[in-house]
Amino acid sequence: MGLKLFNTLARSVQEFAPLDPAQKKVGMYCCGPTVYDFAHIGNWRTFVFADLVRRYLEFKNFQVTHVMNITDIEDKIIKRVRELKIPLRDFTGKYETAFLEDLKTLNCLSPHQTPRATEHIPEIISLIEKLIARGIAYKASDGSVYFSIEKYRGCGCNYGQLLKLNFDEMRTGERVKSDEYAKESIADFALWKSRVPDDGEIFWPSPFGEGRPGWHIECSAMSMKILGASFDLHLGGEDLIFPHHEDEIAQSEGAGLQPAGQPFVKYWIHGAHLLVEGKKMSKSLGNFFTLRDLLAKGFTGREVRYLLLTAHYRETFNFTLEGLAGAKTALARIDECVGKLREIAGNTAAEPEPGSWGWRLLDKFSLALSDDLNVSRAWAAIFEWVRDNNLFYHVLQDEQIRGGDTMRTAFAVKAAAEIAAWNKIDSVLGIGKKAEAEIPAEISALAEERIAAKKSKDFKRADAIRDELKLKGWTIEDTPKGARLKKL
Ligand code: AMP
Ligand code: ZN
Repeated sequence: MGLKLFNTLARSVQEFAPLDPAQKKVGMYCCGPTVYDFAHIGNWRTFVFADLVRRYLEFKNFQVTHVMNITDIEDKIIKRVRELKIPLRDFTGKYETAFLEDLKTLNCLSPHQTPRATEHIPEIISLIEKLIARGIAYKASDGSVYFSIEKYRGCGCNYGQLLKLNFDEMRTGERVKSDEYAKESIADFALWKSRVPDDGEIFWPSPFGEGRPGWHIECSAMSMKILGASFDLHLGGEDLIFPHHEDEIAQSEGAGLQPAGQPFVKYWIHGAHLLVEGKKMSKSLGNFFTLRDLLAKGFTGREVRYLLLTAHYRETFNFTLEGLAGAKTALARIDECVGKLREIAGNTAAEPEPGSWGWRLLDKFSLALSDDLNVSRAWAAIFEWVRDNNLFYHVLQDEQIRGGDTMRTAFAVKAAAEIAAWNKIDSVLGIGKKAEAEIPAEISALAEERIAAKKSKDFKRADAIRDELKLKGWTIEDTPKGARLKKL
C-alpha cells in the first residue's frame, strides 16, 4: 500500500510519489532550530515528528536525504547577542551543541546535512541577485532589499499557495522588515536587511551594501542548494505556514530555477502545536519545559519521545506531566514483553514469520502509518501484540516445566521471529531498549549468596536475602533460565 500524507499545498490527503522517476530517492527539508535558547518541548514535537516521517520513508524503502538547517542569524539572535555582548558564534554554538545533544537523547536520527545560515551567505546573495534581475526584488530607501509581492503576482505567480490571503487589505509597496508577522500584515518582506547600529559587528558585505539576510531567504537558499530547486518534502510546525513557508515558495519560485511545471516543493507537511496543560507555553505561566527540564525531573528521553509519538501529528497535543508518567508505565509494558521474548530467544536468530503475531503487527502497523501516519492505530496494534505475546509467555512457562529441549528450541525460534518483527517496528518508532540499570556489586553479591543458600536448601536465608534486596530497591525473578535481578 502506498503512503498517504496531508499536503498543506493541496489542503488534502494525497498519495506520496517522489519526483525521482525511479520512485526511490526522496529529498526532505525540515526547518531547523533558531539557536537562541534551548529547544522547548513544543519544538521537540515537531523534530520528533520529522524523524518519524524520515524513518517511515526508510521503512518503505525510500532513500531519503534529510536536511535540517540551523538558523544561526535572525532577529531574536541579534537581540540576545547585543544584550550579552559576546561574539555571535560563541552564543549560537552553545545552543546548537545543546540542540544536537538533545536530538540524540530523543533518539532522532542525525539529519544527513545540518547547514548553518551564516555559512551560506554567498548562496543567499546570489538568490537575491536573481530576484532583483527578474524585477521581483528591489532596494528600498532604507538600504534593505525587499521582495515585491505585486511584481511577483504580476509575473503570473501565486502568493498565497499555502493559505488564503486577502489582498484587498494590502497596500502596495508597504513593507515589513521583521522576520515574523501575521497574515494581516501581508506586505513586501525583507530579503537583505541593511546594517543598523543595533546589529553591532554582525554584518556581511554584499552587492546591496553591508547587512544580513532575512530569515525566509536562508531556508530557500540552503534547501535548493542541497536538494535542488525542486524537491519532495518540506516540514515544519504549523506556525511556519505563514509567513515563513509562503515566503520560501515566493522566493524560490520567483527565482524561476525549477524545471518547467515543477513546484519548489511537492508536499508541504505541517505538524500541529503542542500545548502544556491546555495552554500555550510561556515562561510567565510557568508551563515552559525544555527537554532538559524534564530530564531533571527524572524522566528519560525515550519516555518523552514515546509520549510525543502517541498523538497524531495534525492534532494539537496537550502535554502534561501525568501524561509523561503514563508513558513510563506504557513503555514498561512493552519492555517487559520484549525483554521476556529476548530471553526466550537467547541467541536464536530469525526473520518475521508469515502468519505469526509479529507478522500481523507489521501488516497493521504499516497500514496505519501509511494512512497519513495514523499512530493511534499503530499503537493499538502494538499493545494487542504485547497482550498476545504475554499470554504466550505464560503458556511457555508451564510447558517449559514439562517440556524438553525440542520444545525449548521451538519456542526460541518463535520468540526470535517475534523479536525480528518488533525490531522492524522499532526502526520506525525509535523507542529502543530500556537502559539496563547498572547492578551494584553489593546487590550482585547478595543475589549470589541467595543462589548458594537455595542450593544448600537454606530457604530461610534465601528468603531473608530476597527481603533485604527489596529494601534496597531490587527484586529477584526466578525464570526458567535462573534468577534475574530487576530494579523496582
Ligand atoms: P524555532 O526554533 O522557533 O524556529 O522552531 C523550531 C520548530 O518548532 C518549528 O518547526 C516550529 O514550527 C516548531 N514549534 C514551535 N513551537 C511549537 C509548539 N508549541 N508545538 C510544536 N511545534 C512548535
Ligand atoms: Zn525554514
